[in-house]
Order: sequence, then C-alpha cells, then structure tokens
Amino acid sequence: MKIGVLALQGDFAEHIVMLRRLGVETCEVRLPAHLSGLDGLIMPGGESTTIGKLAVAFGLMDPLREFGKNHAVWGTCAGAIFLSKDARREQPLLGMMDITVVRNAFGAQVDSFEADLDIEALKQATNTSNPYHAVFIRAPIIDSVSGAARVLSALPDGRIVAAQEGRLLATSFHPELTSDSRFHEYFVSLCR
Ligand code: GLN
Repeated sequence: MKIGVLALQGDFAEHIVMLRRLGVETCEVRLPAHLSGLDGLIMPGGESTTIGKLAVAFGLMDPLREFGKNHAVWGTCAGAIFLSKDARREQPLLGMMDITVVRNAFGAQVDSFEADLDIEALKQATNTSNPYHAVFIRAPIIDSVSGAARVLSALPDGRIVAAQEGRLLATSFHPELTSDSRFHEYFVSLCR
C-alpha cells in the first residue's frame, strides 16, 4: 500500500506523519510522474487558489483527474475545495466530485473552531462509537451534494462538512491535525 500526498502547498507533512503512523508507505506528489504506482492520494489543507495555480503550472490537472477515475482521492479543507466542481469564484478546480463549496464559510482565521462530529461511516469502518473531534481552520462548507455523492457528516445545524462519492472523499476539517487516526484508516480502506 502506497499513498501519495499532494505536496504543492499546505500541511502535507502532517498527512505523511499520520500515514506513516498507520504503517503506510507514502510519497510527496509534485509532478505527474509521482502519481505512478500509488494506491491513493491525499490533497491537504492550505490555500486552494495557490494549490490550484501550482497544479496548473506543473501540468497536474488532467493527470489528477485521470488518477481519480480509478483510485481513491481525499481532499481535506483546501484539498476538498480543489476536488469540487464549483467554489463560486474563478480558480482552478479539478471538478472531480459532485459537490459545490463555499470558501471561508465560517468567517476569518479567528473564527476557526473545533467540534465533535457523529460520523456513522467512520464508526462502522473502525468499529468505534466515540465522536470524531474535528478541527476547522478557515474552513469551507459543502453546500450541495448531488449525483452519486453523499453526505458523510454535517454539523448540528445541518451544514455539510464531509462527503463521499465512490472512492472520492472531501472533508472541510483537518484529520491530520489531531491524534485520532480513524479518518486516515477509513481512507486507507478505500484505497484497498
Ligand atoms: N481558506 C482556505 C481556502 O479557501 C482553506 C483553509 C484550509 O485549508 N484550512 O482555500
């Protein structure tokens, strides 16, 4: 099992630490050639406009779309925005998932917060019952999920913060910034 982490910008190093903790081989992805031989790919949080512009500059847009047709791909925060088909402004998007997002939907950096989430799919996959503690940093919300995409988790007020479409996963929050590895375990199961 080898999982790549898109390493153009953002907190890719934290994802790599988490994957290693789970005994998964990892690789930093900066060029199309780095995708070969991978079983899955994580796209980290950071700044989605920057990640998108760098992906265009390095010729990664179509190779990433091709990769996602038959591999698991997970975007956290900025990575989830990059996976979406619409972020309501001009920026390079992969458009791989049937979700639309609103960037910075909770406000500025100072409005970042943490919340406990009930994520049924995660509990089932990892055979646990405790809630998932999620970290939101200038996070987007997923404001619509259509086609084959489904909601994985929402806040108590109904705002969607995690979605899945086949082996594609999008989370508004940052599982790589906690010590709870269940989300990464879940993703590893999608890569098999
Ligand atoms: N606010 C960033 C964006 O819109 C995402 C922040 C994050 O990844 N933590 O791209």
